[in-house]
Amino acid sequence: MFNKFKLEFKKDWSDFCHQVEQNSQPEYCLLCGKKMTSPCNSHVVPQFILKRIAEKGMVCYGQSLFRHARNNDFARTTTGINNAFTFRLICKDCDKLLFCHYEKPEAILNYDELNREEQKQILAEMAIKTHLSHIYTKAKTYTRNAMLYPDQMEILHACGRQTAYELDIQEHMAYIQTLIGFQKTTSFPFVVLFDRLFNYETDIAAQTIIAYTHDLKGDQLFDPLDFSHIELMRYCYLMILPYQGKTRVLFYVEKKFQSHVRSVIDDFNALSEEEKLHFLFVSLVIYDEQFYISPSLQEKMAKDRKIVKLYTKTDNSGSSGKNEIANFRKYHNYLMKK
Ligand SMILES: [Zn+2]
Repeated sequence: MFNKFKLEFKKDWSDFCHQVEQNSQPEYCLLCGKKMTSPCNSHVVPQFILKRIAEKGMVCYGQSLFRHARNNDFARTTTGINNAFTFRLICKDCDKLLFCHYEKPEAILNYDELNREEQKQILAEMAIKTHLSHIYTKAKTYTRNAMLYPDQMEILHACGRQTAYELDIQEHMAYIQTLIGFQKTTSFPFVVLFDRLFNYETDIAAQTIIAYTHDLKGDQLFDPLDFSHIELMRYCYLMILPYQGKTRVLFYVEKKFQSHVRSVIDDFNALSEEEKLHFLFVSLVIYDEQFYISPSLQEKMAKDRKIVKLYTKTDNSGSSGKNEIANFRKYHNYLMKK
């Protein structure tokens, strides 16, 4: 009886999630404004990268670590690579045009040999993708809440709480516009803090943004829930891209924002090579839900109680537990060569 109920609930939940996805899609392309009959199913991490960590065509979401911590059977934690963290916000033309420099193996493997102009295009394209993906995640959260709690959303809206969501979207759109603008300028607008091509493939892939709330001394840089000081929140970009026996790791920030994250940059630069990769791995666990792991690494990480505890402790939009970045050495670094 219970199993039947569980099965029915699971199906209803899956239908509901599908409806949330449908309702989160805009009518007009977010980039060119063209009306869309059906938005492009854009991948955050290119499929040729995902194939490297997939086992039998499947990859695990970072969120799968929650399932073990909370015994949550309903959250979708594994997916086929065709639908792994896709977003549906832009038209097919924009998807094809805007990411043409980096969505090819040569861009990942030969990044260091490219000229500054080509490198700039790649870094900008990757950064634009991460912002689009975050917009989609926020849109889905908002849509889901509006569908589940329509009355409460009305009250929140009347109190001006929706403004926080709108501000967030506007902020990501402003980043995207600036990044698109970089593609037309001759200057190099990024500070690349880490660029390595490791001679092994990691079982983790990620393309993400991180707004550090704390530095490595544990001091708070800003309060993410205080929207009156949104200008203090600045993003760093982190890319972990395994391909053909190698892994490209890139960590960078827009030049004009480096003063906002100065203490993080200084502390990071003072770390040893090994510590830098270690710091980036723990950053991913603390700040990002949108990374992928191979099913076999997922099994392994799910048994690592320290990592699972860290992941669940920092699962909110506030700064709870995020000062743990100062203790990154306490955790195992799963980006290291096996
Ligand atoms: Zn478009």
